[in-house]
Amino acid sequence: MKGDVPVGGGAPVSVQSMTNTHTEDIDATTRQVNGLAELGCHVIRVAVPTVRAARAIRAIKTQIGIPLVADIHFSASLAVHAIKAGADCVRINPGNMRDWADVRKVVRAAKDAGISMRIGVNSGSIRRRKGLEVVSEKKAKSQDIVALMVETVLRYCERIERMGFDRMILSLKTSDALSTIACYRSIAKKCDYPLHLGVTAAGPAAESAVKSAIGIGALLADGIGDTIRVSATGPPEQEVIIGHQILKAVGLEEKGLEVFSCPTCGRCEIDLDGIVDEVRRKTSHIGKNLSVAIMGCVVNGPGEAAEADVGIAGGRGFAYLFRKGRKIRRIPESEIVPALLAEIEKL
Ligand code: SF4
Repeated sequence: MKGDVPVGGGAPVSVQSMTNTHTEDIDATTRQVNGLAELGCHVIRVAVPTVRAARAIRAIKTQIGIPLVADIHFSASLAVHAIKAGADCVRINPGNMRDWADVRKVVRAAKDAGISMRIGVNSGSIRRRKGLEVVSEKKAKSQDIVALMVETVLRYCERIERMGFDRMILSLKTSDALSTIACYRSIAKKCDYPLHLGVTAAGPAAESAVKSAIGIGALLADGIGDTIRVSATGPPEQEVIIGHQILKAVGLEEKGLEVFSCPTCGRCEIDLDGIVDEVRRKTSHIGKNLSVAIMGCVVNGPGEAAEADVGIAGGRGFAYLFRKGRKIRRIPESEIVPALLAEIEKL
């Protein structure tokens, strides 16, 4: 459980993102969190690199409506500050803490506050860590990355369980979709902790969307994973949008209004790009499952348009309008968007 959003135990898969503001800037961070929540972000993570950032969590929490995860590296004291300021969960990598006494301090604070901890390990840090070794250096060098990550996380869990704490959520991210899939498939067989899925450092939105759809999507399709974060360079809003697209694609969320449009080719005689863009923008609020086909010409257009709830097939400066498989009328290009929107409203 993180704040009001249950994670694991059969709860719906939640979508997370991470702010890219300085957490110390309370107004900017709050604004971004609330904007992301409006887009469908269920849980937000913020960076906590300083004591001021940790303390800012108290004020941020009073102005947001979704659970907040404090992202901590290296410092037990920052984690304790963040927990005392009201963080709903702390994300730590025990491997970059100084010693087990430090980990124990964080565990004790999380336990006292009744919150969960995410134990997060990334492929980038796993062979370089200088702090807590749970696998011998020789073994770490010889094991493949998947086996090393899984064994390391399980050993962390055992140590933390011996401290009397089991409210853990685990993540094992690599920047490669296939090894991410292998890590989570392996750990899912070995323990029952909720899993936070993600492909780390996945690149700009387009690359990230592909890697995340493969990495996260394949795992969700296997029934693995309780919460997800798409990692994409740029505005975090795109992470939330891609995250929900993945959930829809694997059937874990209602599809809402889906636009099917052709890629266009030399036969297209209408501004299909512009029409698709306008229809998508003006229907983004519609949650009902509806299909809208926007096709460039009469070669494949009528077939696709007739299969959708509403559709058009373009001609030279005009289009045929379809509703529920029936051709209704011919409309001039300038009326395509209003006519589609009117038909969608009727449905
Ligand atoms: S529907 Fe027509 S315009 Fe669109 S890709 Fe097919 S042939 Fe080209």
